Amino acid sequence: MTKTHTLGFPRIGKKRELKFVLEKYWNSEISENEMKNECKKIRQEIWNDQKQLDFITVGDFSLYDHVLDTSFLFNNIPKRFNGLSGLNQYFAYARGKARNQDKGNAFRAGEMTKWFDTNYHFIVPEFDHQTTFKLNATELINQVREAKRLRSDVKVVLLGPLTYLYLGKSEKEIKKLELLEPLVCEYVSLFKLLNQEGVSLVQIDEPILVTEIEDDWKLAFKNTYKTLSTIDIKILIATYFDDLKDNLELLVSLPSHGIHIDLTRNDTPLENIVNQISSDKFLSLGVIDGRNIWVNNYKQTLDLLRPIAETLKNRLYIAPSCSLLHVPVDLDQETELDEEFKSYLAFAKQKLVELDILKKAILDYQSVDNAIQKRTNVIQKRSQSTLIHDHSVKSTISKFKNDDGYRKSTFEKRKEIQNLELSLPLFPTTTIGSFPQTKEIRLARKQYKNKEIDQLKYESKIKKHIEYCIDKQEEIGLDVLVHGEAERNDMVEYFGENLSGFIFTQFAWVQSYGSRCVKPPIIIGDVSRNKDITIDWIRFAQSKTSKVVKGMLTGPVTMLNWSFVRDDQPRSETCLQIAVALRDEVKALESSGVKIIQIDEAALREGMPLRDEKAQDYLEWAVRSFRITAGGVSDKTQIHTHMCYSNFNPIIKNIAQMDADVITIETSRSNMKLLKVFKDFEYKNDIGPGVYDIHSPNIPENKNMKNLIKRAAEYINEKQLWINPDCGLKTRNWSEVEKSLIRMVDVAKELRTEYNKV
Ligand code: GLN
Ligand code: ZN
Repeated sequence: MTKTHTLGFPRIGKKRELKFVLEKYWNSEISENEMKNECKKIRQEIWNDQKQLDFITVGDFSLYDHVLDTSFLFNNIPKRFNGLSGLNQYFAYARGKARNQDKGNAFRAGEMTKWFDTNYHFIVPEFDHQTTFKLNATELINQVREAKRLRSDVKVVLLGPLTYLYLGKSEKEIKKLELLEPLVCEYVSLFKLLNQEGVSLVQIDEPILVTEIEDDWKLAFKNTYKTLSTIDIKILIATYFDDLKDNLELLVSLPSHGIHIDLTRNDTPLENIVNQISSDKFLSLGVIDGRNIWVNNYKQTLDLLRPIAETLKNRLYIAPSCSLLHVPVDLDQETELDEEFKSYLAFAKQKLVELDILKKAILDYQSVDNAIQKRTNVIQKRSQSTLIHDHSVKSTISKFKNDDGYRKSTFEKRKEIQNLELSLPLFPTTTIGSFPQTKEIRLARKQYKNKEIDQLKYESKIKKHIEYCIDKQEEIGLDVLVHGEAERNDMVEYFGENLSGFIFTQFAWVQSYGSRCVKPPIIIGDVSRNKDITIDWIRFAQSKTSKVVKGMLTGPVTMLNWSFVRDDQPRSETCLQIAVALRDEVKALESSGVKIIQIDEAALREGMPLRDEKAQDYLEWAVRSFRITAGGVSDKTQIHTHMCYSNFNPIIKNIAQMDADVITIETSRSNMKLLKVFKDFEYKNDIGPGVYDIHSPNIPENKNMKNLIKRAAEYINEKQLWINPDCGLKTRNWSEVEKSLIRMVDVAKELRTEYNKV
């Protein structure tokens, strides 16, 4: 009989209970014990939601991050944390610790990076010459026992040794694979313990198998799993997030009891997979999308599963494609959502119910044919609903399908025209858009949302902040000003709320890192713009100064990548719809006299698929969407874009194809490493490499900023360089911002004198 399980479940709780408990603990409002008790309750609820599955999963819960937990499980803790112990040490590694009077030292947190192509961040493991591993399974075993009290069928999930090593960072001379043997030794000890605890199955996550790994790593897989298979415990090797390609052959050849494959991102015919897998292994198929929030199309899934269920019989397992960590917890919490929209959605808890129905259908279709028929009707309804489909959008879009969005003239020509239009100095100074989001600003937005103040009152409050922000920028002496984004709570949410096709939930939070969660909008239907969004705010800001004010909006690719995207049409199509809607906003800004318009693409890099050809395809339509948004304006309008920290070097050509007149990027944390790419690639347009790190409260030193620009000028002509912070300033306070920007402007002035002399 087919078995069901989940690779993991969200740990934040239905109403972000984990977040609130952790924050209380960090603020010393509750004791360690109280905090742990609350976590126990959250786990009980998680397991309760898994009651209809054949296994409950243990090991996916974490107080911060499961990769960090793996570092603690094997006692791989950087030596800078030696003076600390227990949860103090754990949270210092996770979050860092400022120097305080009684406790002395400050601790630098572990580096945080995005987990594959998701918006979940993990704490990067560190390896150095002193790295050793020593199993410390107390916490995990406690949780196994906790689960065992509820159910006998317990599956433990662990991050695999190869993925763990691969994702870590190491000192230069260290070969990570040399650490493998001692690490695997500890996994062996752990397996023995789990065996004693009566664990039925161990799921080992090795998602690096869906990326291009080198031959020595492939060989290491063989050796590792040979060693691990000597222990008397069943193991399931889990992969997800993309197609396995030639690593499929490797995966099926490894000694294991089963393998898991993400069917939502798989391109290999299922038959080929079934044919390759030996008869002593079970095949777990990720049939339910663990990265999105739409209901499963039962009929389609069953058409796929039923033929192979006959072949595989009790060797077929079904599951979500990956851990459900990446979707919100429970749709039942959404009491304010339109019933029709709700019928199209399934969150983590609902996805497990879907799994159970699929299992029952495989066994005896009749027993659930009602549910299946009902689902088919819902899907039919969605394909025709006028709440989803807007024919006028579809016909507008079709006109843009073959448009590549080029501006009228080349950059060189535009630059000449814009120079005359804007008359900016050498090394123009600007900021990325947002200024401090003060308490008063937040309060005003909240009061307006809760209808405690009317629109007029709200607008006058926000306008006061805009005016303040403009005055300050003039005082500081910046060249290109911004309005400061006081009206925006979040750069994606704000535009989503003002476009049709997006909906918002109350509790659909997804963990981003630690206690931080995001609530992505849902792109439910065709996207269009029915009213001006930013025009009045920018015009107001412009009316308060004779300097030029940049219009500011979020680009189509970032809107897409930070939302849940509909699955009934290609992502590229949805992106194009957003692009066209925003294009109208850009044109409206231009018509109202705005001379510079910034289109932020903070998330362009992170939405890139893991596999090369898919990445190329993505970059092509992503760049084209950006160009369509930007391309409707005349040569004299200057288009800026901004991108946050990520590794741009491999995609510099695509960035150049975006053809923004100016790009501002985050470089300060990488110490301008990024700029090396310009040695080999002649980037022609203007560029503002962020000169200081806005993520830190420190006021930057003039000489550091100056050096950064001088180094940049080694690779890039000084006439192309802008001077700006590396990201928006909304998380900083005014005093930090003023001090930092005054220094930044001073640096620009000094540089102008120096470079004008030569
Ligand atoms: N314009 C946005 C801001 O300044 C950009 C934010 C971002 O890059 N994440 O806040
Ligand atoms: Zn940024």
